[in-house]
Amino acid sequence: MIELNETHDPALRSWVTSANLPGCDFPIQNLPFGVFSLGNEDKPRIGVAIGDRIFDIAAARFRNLFQGLALEAAMACEQDALNDLMNLGREHAGALRLALSRLLRTEAGDASVAAECLVPMADATMHLPARIANYTDFYTSIHHATNAGKMVRPENPLLSNFRSLPVAYHGRASTISVSGTPCIRPHGQSLPSGATEAVYGPTRKLDYELEVGIFIGRGNALGRPIPIGQAEQHVFGLCLFNDWSARDVQRWESQPLGPFLGKSFLSSVSPWVVTMDALAPFRSAAADRGVDAPMLLPNLDCPANRVSGAVDIALEARIQTARMREEGIAAHPVSHPNFVDQYWTIAQMVAHHTENGCRLMPGDLLGSGTVSGRRADQLGCLLELTRDASRPLELPGGEQRTYLEDGDDIIFRAHCRRDGFVAIGFGECVGRVVPALT
Ligand code: MN
Repeated sequence: MIELNETHDPALRSWVTSANLPGCDFPIQNLPFGVFSLGNEDKPRIGVAIGDRIFDIAAARFRNLFQGLALEAAMACEQDALNDLMNLGREHAGALRLALSRLLRTEAGDASVAAECLVPMADATMHLPARIANYTDFYTSIHHATNAGKMVRPENPLLSNFRSLPVAYHGRASTISVSGTPCIRPHGQSLPSGATEAVYGPTRKLDYELEVGIFIGRGNALGRPIPIGQAEQHVFGLCLFNDWSARDVQRWESQPLGPFLGKSFLSSVSPWVVTMDALAPFRSAAADRGVDAPMLLPNLDCPANRVSGAVDIALEARIQTARMREEGIAAHPVSHPNFVDQYWTIAQMVAHHTENGCRLMPGDLLGSGTVSGRRADQLGCLLELTRDASRPLELPGGEQRTYLEDGDDIIFRAHCRRDGFVAIGFGECVGRVVPALT
């Protein structure tokens, strides 16, 4: 059940005036959570983004600005990660978000005490939002699956299980890092085309994958599946996610057990987690499964999922090479998919992940898989955009790209827009490719 409340009112304005500027990612209708610190000596702590400021939750608790459920939630924020807040569940996080909305809106009255809790975002260092114990990457775009499948199985690109279940693999949580972490070109083993023996060296096919990251909130007990109708009660919020991939390593090693070292060198998350409550105005019907699709098995289907299981998020990936930076050329947009087109929904991913009784824990991260749409400008990675290096991308300034080169910056952004509501954004997920170690 997707509920709208006073926090989504498009008429709300904040006394933090930067939050009211058109195009701001963090208006008062958003209020995403993150972990920040100020300077090297400072302990990381939890805050909420508002305009170009961060509202320090612990500082507000110290000033007695919360009551009831919101106070309980604020006390769970006296940590260096969001896990305790996530563990309390959607009701507590929603109560805290409502209390913050009331504190930060222009109608709040005397805002002088709350204003003491603001710090400039420009002065903050952002950290991983949660201690991520487990990470699973899905494969939920039928367009990505078909395009990637064509390169290895032109006669049968989409495997027969794709439309029965959301395919996934268990990834490596220890290499998930916050936006801004450099991507060191990884070494690995691969079989160059035409060669008969494998070689070891820096990857020659470094790629990005434009994904949505899903942070689990309250977990489930071992052995107890989460029914699809309750799945979103176990989701805290969403972020941007770059699942950096070494395609040559991935292709050689994946036979037959799937992704391993071609993925586990780095994955990047954006620092601000947009809550499911903030996303309520931007929900849509689950994508059309197609006329010849198999019947959904009962644990992957429910009326609410059909009606509003998808989230309308316009995603964007840009590339800026070292030369473009030197010449003052702006980052060039290359991918514009929308998360609404994914074949499988968040609730289906959570229900499927736990159908055998697998335990999800607060702070666990699910990747959506590369988000690609039908159109040529909606492809979410270079493997698809350049058809595995056979069609180079033309960049402004005259350079070409097949795969990423050292010095390239990859910048993800995303926005939710709908008539009658204030648009919200996700901030950025960025990373620069740096040379392989020698
Ligand atoms: Mn991926």
